[in-house]
Amino acid sequence: MARQLAKTTVDRFRRRLEDERDRLEAQIAEYEREIEEARLTESSSDRSPDPGNAEASSMKLEYAKELSIEQNTLDLLGKVRRALGRVERGEYGVCESCGKAIPLERLDVLPYTTLCVDCASKTS
Ligand SMILES: [Zn+2]
Repeated sequence: MARQLAKTTVDRFRRRLEDERDRLEAQIAEYEREIEEARLTESSSDRSPDPGNAEASSMKLEYAKELSIEQNTLDLLGKVRRALGRVERGEYGVCESCGKAIPLERLDVLPYTTLCVDCASKTS
């Protein structure tokens, strides 16, 4: 039987998740702007007579790095949104896989988690 979290506790996590979501969305907007800038720089360097110049290749590296950081941020944002969805449905704090309560200490560290430690270690 899963324990119900107190409404005040859920509200506290909801606020943390909403803050996190806002922060991640702002970060993604920032990445997209930087990536767009890198893309513009890249396409203008393609037209330059010296395609192998060091500046262009370091820009490409930077661009690839930004993309992977953005992917991680998007993954995290997806988890945060999913956790918020569970808050809305009154399922927050319950393991998505086995239905057991997720310990508060775990939620404190990973507010966006939707799995208990056992299930998370099975899937990862
Ligand atoms: Zn579980």
